[in-house]
Amino acid sequence: MPMKRIIVHWTAGTHTPNGLDRTHYHRLIDGEGRTVTGVDIAKNAAPIQPGYAAHTLNCNTDSIGVAICAAAGATENPLNFGKYPPTPVQLTELIRVVAVLCQRYGIPCTRTTVLTHGEVQAHLGITQRGKWDLKRLPGIAGSGGDWLRAEVKARLDAGI
Ligand SMILES: [Zn+2]
Repeated sequence: MPMKRIIVHWTAGTHTPNGLDRTHYHRLIDGEGRTVTGVDIAKNAAPIQPGYAAHTLNCNTDSIGVAICAAAGATENPLNFGKYPPTPVQLTELIRVVAVLCQRYGIPCTRTTVLTHGEVQAHLGITQRGKWDLKRLPGIAGSGGDWLRAEVKARLDAGI
């Protein structure tokens, strides 16, 4: 099935996926870097099917949703990642999972096709409700989305 983009989220929960999280995303990565499968990606392919993963407001069709389990209580201003910050192993696994999905579905790694939920409003022009998922990441200067795309591209260039 043709999928057009990958949108990366955090659950705004703990480092462990809960039952509700599993209904909202296609892949979830826990705090120890283990990937859990959520909803079947095919359900989000147009025409969208009952039980699809509702991960991004008005942008679920043909969109794969990948989430890191993190960021409960995190705030953007002032920047505070809270008690469950994204972990290094989780981000390493995120890069791998996104690269594999890019390759499997033939999705190019561009700012409109691989993006964080925090970038959806700016990059796709689809209004979101104050989402800042992965706009910033611990220990990473600048935009989390730019960093993620660079890492995914490097992975793809290296043949994953
Ligand atoms: Zn999100």
